[in-house]
Amino acid sequence: MEKVIAVDGPAGAGKSTVSKIVAAKLGYTYIDTGAMYRAVGLKFLRSGQDFDENFLAEITRDIEISLDENAKVFLDGEEVTKEIRTPEVSKLASDVSKYGFVRKKLTELQREMARQGSVIMDGRDIGTQVLPNADVKIFLTASLKERARRRFEELKAKGQAVTLDAVESEIAFRDKQDSEREIAPLAKADDAVLIDSTNMTVDEVVDSILRLVEV
Ligand code: C5P
Repeated sequence: MEKVIAVDGPAGAGKSTVSKIVAAKLGYTYIDTGAMYRAVGLKFLRSGQDFDENFLAEITRDIEISLDENAKVFLDGEEVTKEIRTPEVSKLASDVSKYGFVRKKLTELQREMARQGSVIMDGRDIGTQVLPNADVKIFLTASLKERARRRFEELKAKGQAVTLDAVESEIAFRDKQDSEREIAPLAKADDAVLIDSTNMTVDEVVDSILRLVEV
């Protein structure tokens, strides 16, 4: 079975949690495309420059982003797995993801990564743009309150000083920006299966994805 599974949805829906488990169960490779946009955001943040489209184009041109088999993230050869998870980088990832030249570069890289099959890739535009011929497409969502609660618990466990209200505002802002952008907005592909995980456990979501893969 060398299938390609696409998982899209808003922030905090549980995409990466369930995708990692599904990948482990099937012996597939998990590809976190959000981490790649975050790496571009981090590179911009580190530059210390004010926002400038030309400068963003310049740093995007020769950026090197890679993911290893343990989902570690590398930016220009340096591991940045933890550093890309701050709210500041989340916002910047969403800001840079509006630009066609950023999306083009990362989309090409993502398609290359999926070429061998046996992959589960999560993001916002995987089923609609990156891998429109994926064998299984999932659109995973949950209520805003529940997604904020999950993300808050996750950040708190990592020792980050955040409040529930701030997390809810951050993901609501990001979802709006991601859904309303002109190029490759967050959207459910017509042939994606909608899973609302608001009242589901992680195991229940994993099982429903596995059932779709096994068909
Ligand atoms: O999935 P994650 O929350 O880490 O993604 C960070 C940001 O990267 C998203 O808010 C979105 O703006 C962008 N992104 C994207 N397309 C993808 C994956 C992520 O635009 N396929």
